[in-house]
Amino acid sequence: MKHGKKGSRQKRSESDARTSANSDWPQPVKQRYEPHPRHKGAPVQVGPYTVFAGGTRDLEAEDLRGIDVLVALTNQLPPLAFGGTYVLLHAALQDFGGVPDNWRDFLLQKVIPLLSTGKKVLAYCAGSHGRTGTLIASLIALLEPETADPIQAARERHCWKAVETREQGEGIFALRGQALPDNYKEEFARAHALMTAFLERTSKR
Ligand SMILES: [Zn+2]
Repeated sequence: MKHGKKGSRQKRSESDARTSANSDWPQPVKQRYEPHPRHKGAPVQVGPYTVFAGGTRDLEAEDLRGIDVLVALTNQLPPLAFGGTYVLLHAALQDFGGVPDNWRDFLLQKVIPLLSTGKKVLAYCAGSHGRTGTLIASLIALLEPETADPIQAARERHCWKAVETREQGEGIFALRGQALPDNYKEEFARAHALMTAFLERTSKR
């Protein structure tokens, strides 16, 4: 078997996106299949600090070179280099879920102090979108009061797929005592409907 399956899947996805152009959902469907870089620990600016962001799907042992702290937003570990010493800050979030009640305290008392001492902090989950995107947007929400939309900022600085669920979005804006803006409520409802439809379709195959 050669590695041809990804290409054929990509083609099918693009034609799916085209045929849906007449529906109410053209943009998110099309955008969803745009290629984007692998998440191997690239730096992301959050306030005066830099956090590194990755996903176990893409990370390799060499990507962790020089990293001091792993913020594990999943229970999985990325590949680790023999002899590497890391501090592990465990903060597994539910995939496609929200954030815990002590999220603000966790950020203020654990993550931001590490960043402020100049440690190289790599936050990661599986794909680097939902949970890692939520961490990045949450840090922006706390550290950059001048940035009106921390979700948009995380998408511009990290990946356009960052932050995947309404619960994640609500957790981010709650750090500022704000409700999730209506445009995100609609977007996450659409994303949820697409995901549900996708899971139903694949379960019938
Ligand atoms: Zn991405």
